Amino acid sequence: MSLQQISHDELQQLITQLDQALYNHAQWHKELIRTLVCRLSCDRHDILPEAYKECRFGQWYYSPKPDDISRHLGFIATGEAHKRMHELAGQLLIQASEKNTINPLDYDHFSNALEQLRLELATLKHESESLLYNRDPLTGAINRINMLPLLRERQEAVKRLSQPCYIAMLDIDFFKKVNDKYGHVIGDRVLGTLSHCIIEHLRPYDKVFRYGGEEFLLCIQDTDLQAGYDILERLREDISLLELNVSHPKPLHITVSIGLTLLSATLPIEDSIIQADQAMYLAKSAGRNRVEMAVSPSIEEMK
Ligand code: GH3
Ligand code: MG
Ligand code: MG
Repeated sequence: MSLQQISHDELQQLITQLDQALYNHAQWHKELIRTLVCRLSCDRHDILPEAYKECRFGQWYYSPKPDDISRHLGFIATGEAHKRMHELAGQLLIQASEKNTINPLDYDHFSNALEQLRLELATLKHESESLLYNRDPLTGAINRINMLPLLRERQEAVKRLSQPCYIAMLDIDFFKKVNDKYGHVIGDRVLGTLSHCIIEHLRPYDKVFRYGGEEFLLCIQDTDLQAGYDILERLREDISLLELNVSHPKPLHITVSIGLTLLSATLPIEDSIIQADQAMYLAKSAGRNRVEMAVSPSIEEMK
């Protein structure tokens, strides 16, 4: 599950909550060390089997969250690291109170688990922050400034690992008419809804960039040409059936034209983008609401 589906507001909220969680955990850790070093009697919550749900971090972690967050692998890994760290902390507290001594190896295990938790938390926060700052606020797609570096990474993978990667240019059909008829505010909402539909149709490791006003560049990796085409064809059809309830009495419908090409391992990335754009114009001239594949020179590579 990718965090790309999460809205701008939810992402901002997640970052604030992670900061608060990090602070709370640092406070909890300070108190734990004080208890152990000064041989104080421990908080009984810390030795319960469910201690990981009782601390303030646990209360936040196990409170209801949007599906895209609770099923995110980094979020799950953070919860597992947190639970393990609490189990080990509980063992240290029991040893200290029953034997008045602590096995150094057990302390090392606890210490490593704590490091792991901090690493997971920092990774999750970093991922959320970079998504927030790299995204176009209107559509949630990755903004154009970050497009080339990410596509270069993909091209490297194509070269080194021979993993095929496809890019597609998607352009809304007659979008000017939508603006003219309903106004720019409704036009903006259409763009936002469309973008979410695109992101939901792709897989977590695919990428959606806002290329221009009403144009999106899609990057589809680890697939063959037919599967890539099928994903786009399904997307195109679902967009044409989508009822856009954007505060207008009657739902609005749009269609899109899509041009698909292989991300070349050898040509400059800009050339592959031009090929996808040309294929998209082919779809426009063939009647719109279509997916077209690029013609040569990349067609030989695509076979
Ligand atoms: P075609 O099928 O040939 O693509 O027709 P089109 O009307 O979509 O193409 P054209 O390039 O003539 O118009 C694109 C329109 O997209 C014009 C512009 O007003 C609108 N647009 C671009 N960016 C935005 C935006 O951020 N918000 C809104 N509401 N409209 C935008
Ligand atoms: Mg356009
Ligand atoms: Mg258009």
